[in-house]
Amino acid sequence: MYKLDLNYKGLLLLQKILFKDKEAKKYLEKDEFAEAAKILLRNQRLDWQMLADGYSSLENQQVKEFQFDGFVIKVQYNTGRIHSALVKIDEESLNSRKCFLCSENRPVEQKAIQYKKDFLIICNPFPILHEHFTIPSIDHKPQRIRNHFNTFLSVSKDLSKYYNVFYNGQKCGASAPDHLHFQAVTKNSLPIESDIKMIKSEYGITLSEDFDLTVTGIDDTVRRFILIEGKKDRDVQYAFEKFYKVFEMISAEDEEPMFNILSVYTEKKGWKIFLFARSKHRPSFYYFEGEERILLSPAAIDFSGLCVVPVKEHFDRITKDHLIKIFREVSLGKEAFEFLKSGLERRLNE
Ligand SMILES: [Zn+2]
Repeated sequence: MYKLDLNYKGLLLLQKILFKDKEAKKYLEKDEFAEAAKILLRNQRLDWQMLADGYSSLENQQVKEFQFDGFVIKVQYNTGRIHSALVKIDEESLNSRKCFLCSENRPVEQKAIQYKKDFLIICNPFPILHEHFTIPSIDHKPQRIRNHFNTFLSVSKDLSKYYNVFYNGQKCGASAPDHLHFQAVTKNSLPIESDIKMIKSEYGITLSEDFDLTVTGIDDTVRRFILIEGKKDRDVQYAFEKFYKVFEMISAEDEEPMFNILSVYTEKKGWKIFLFARSKHRPSFYYFEGEERILLSPAAIDFSGLCVVPVKEHFDRITKDHLIKIFREVSLGKEAFEFLKSGLERRLNE
């Protein structure tokens, strides 16, 4: 068990929401979080109607697939994600709602697994894939990853038997930019996982490479991202910190440069960290009216090759050309990306 900093009231609340299943407990004693999370989801689908409804709406989803040179991007029609696509994240809107990631505001049916000292694993009632978790910090604090990147790496490793973990920055698709959280979804369900080998060889430029750590800059004609591959958390963290420092120099944001992160961990190869560099929260198509509008608000899952569109007409309307324009608009610009790559290369090879 991990020691907690919570006050008495916080501890009482935590006791109330924790998932107390015997089978899960057995796994948690061995820190087998992926197994415990799987059991949590199985139970919650039976005990929590909202979650069951979320998953049954996923069964009616439609998917379109677009082939690019060396990779695939899928588009999923998912009406359950409408709230997330429309969420307003200005300060006034955030202040006028109850934070849905704070324990005291969550539905009573929603149970949690404690992850280490500061985090919880809960089921996301608006799933994109057939297993979808949210991993919020116990405390209400802003969505900023820099000081929690080590937890991001460890949770990704601890869930890696079944899941990948991702992070959406404050203005990069996070529905709760005021409450720190990660998410996890089923492994081998995102197109980029199987396409990355091809993408890397076709579009990648090696920025740094040694036995333990490889950093690559990639512009695949749609997305611009940095890929960190390493077996030791210390090395991966080091490369991320360099990325952050260089990106910060050209970022207009006060709090955090704009990015989404996908982490894929395997026992054999360690971490693959995809850092999707952004320049914009939402594309122009999002704001268009009538026939031209496409409600797609790209976040980590979309950048990983599975775009979510919650309105049927928009789903029917979307073309390959739309995808190129949308991703180009919200991705970091060419010049800035060149700066990011060369700055990172220099710092990694100092
Ligand atoms: Zn909160």
